[in-house]
Amino acid sequence: MDIKKDSTKSEKIEDLAKRRGFFNQSSEIYGSLSGLYDYGFLGASLKRKWEALWRKHFLDEDFAFEIETTNIMPEPVFRASGHLENFIDPTTRCKKCGTVHRADHIIEEFLGESFEGLSAEKLTEIIHRHRVKCPKCKGQLEDAATLNMMFPLTIGTGEGTKPYLRPETAQGVYVNFSRAFEQLRKKLPLGLALIGKAYRNEISPRNLLIRQREFTQAELQIFFDPERIGVHERFEQIADYKLRLFTLADKKSNTITEITCKDAAAKLKLPQFYVYHLAKIQKFYLDVLKLPIDKFRFRELSEEERAFYNRIHWDIEINLESLGGFKEIGGLHYRTDHDLKGHGKISGKDMSISIDDRRFIPNVLELSFGVDRNVYALLDLSYHEEGDEKDRRIVLRLPQLLSPFDFALFPLVNKDNIPEKAQEIKKMLKEKGFGIFYDDSGSIGRRYRRMDEIGVAKCITIDHQTLEDSTVTIRDRDTMTQIRVKIDDISSYI
Ligand code: AMP
Repeated sequence: MDIKKDSTKSEKIEDLAKRRGFFNQSSEIYGSLSGLYDYGFLGASLKRKWEALWRKHFLDEDFAFEIETTNIMPEPVFRASGHLENFIDPTTRCKKCGTVHRADHIIEEFLGESFEGLSAEKLTEIIHRHRVKCPKCKGQLEDAATLNMMFPLTIGTGEGTKPYLRPETAQGVYVNFSRAFEQLRKKLPLGLALIGKAYRNEISPRNLLIRQREFTQAELQIFFDPERIGVHERFEQIADYKLRLFTLADKKSNTITEITCKDAAAKLKLPQFYVYHLAKIQKFYLDVLKLPIDKFRFRELSEEERAFYNRIHWDIEINLESLGGFKEIGGLHYRTDHDLKGHGKISGKDMSISIDDRRFIPNVLELSFGVDRNVYALLDLSYHEEGDEKDRRIVLRLPQLLSPFDFALFPLVNKDNIPEKAQEIKKMLKEKGFGIFYDDSGSIGRRYRRMDEIGVAKCITIDHQTLEDSTVTIRDRDTMTQIRVKIDDISSYI
């Protein structure tokens, strides 16, 4: 099912991103640091639109609210969360050229399967057993070692507690839980969302936006009563909805199990509260973002792959042609009481709550999304080429809701009162709330092609006939057909 790696497609996406304004390396004029990207005007728009749809979909629950917390947090936070001790990546150094690699990644490249989550000892054994060599110079590799991935900071004079840039947004939510619980009428479930930056000192950042050192996460942490994990009051509504699961058992046959939520709960023994959120996530991708169904799946992680505190963990994966198959872009994690318990222990503050005379530490279900990975996935899925060498058309088939502009507006010529009419229509559409890209230079054909490349679905052209009968042409990005419509009817074409 996975498609062969097509490195040229990722090069094409990168080229388009740089040329047109989706993303480029940060501090480019100084030569850049790897794993850091800036978003241009189109990328920033795409990212904001994705975030707006995410907020609309996941914060529609009455119990869910958004907060914002700092990027810099003191060391004890990460002692409590376990990051200080466990947030490590396996490395291996080449004995010949000295390059330090991420051990599991180069083994994956060498052997063609994933080794994420294995210990340094296990990876060392695989390196020796399969005689894995340095991908750069074919030299021998040292035993795998580990490196903490957090960025330490100096604050003030450098005395006192050592802070870090947060490696995940989640901890900012956990340290605020007690306060939020008080503020929000002491009720469970309680959902606290956060969209913000996370920082990880990745040894080998790669695949453009997919593995960076600074990236954006969108996460919803749902605090709930662990005794109620087996039920969800609206489960009936999704009971017959079919999930696309890649279970551990599906690995051999490389197939996907399509299973109703009801059966996922009964046969796979997944708790209702968990299954309900699998459905919620899948609906976001298939119904809101309108991804092709075969590009989406949830992948079950083995015990070795998942963090020790995640009792249940399925990744959200999208099949990306440019990266040769399904890639993780998010996950649904049942983190138990691990985080609140840890913060209670290290801070000395009681994290337990009392409901109906019962005292307990709430459990957490984490809906986690890498925003940049989602942006990259949308570019990969939308990028199409048509025609031949002589006449190639690049089309970004973004769903209308994510298109950087609702309409492009072109005066056919810059004379005969046509620009004035175009300005008048632009003003009218902007007042109605539409995003407009106005372009009055170059041939119409080239203007259309430029809009195709950045994913604008509808181009409006104002010509001489517009002055006579108040109609314009609307040209469709995907079919390239043109129709004439009354100016007053333009908005109905969105
Ligand atoms: P994790 O805490 O590792 O589960 O990360 C949460 C989400 O952030 C993942 O599902 C990814 O989508 C995203 N993510 C993790 N690491 C990176 C990275 N280095 N660059 C970009 N996105 C990342």
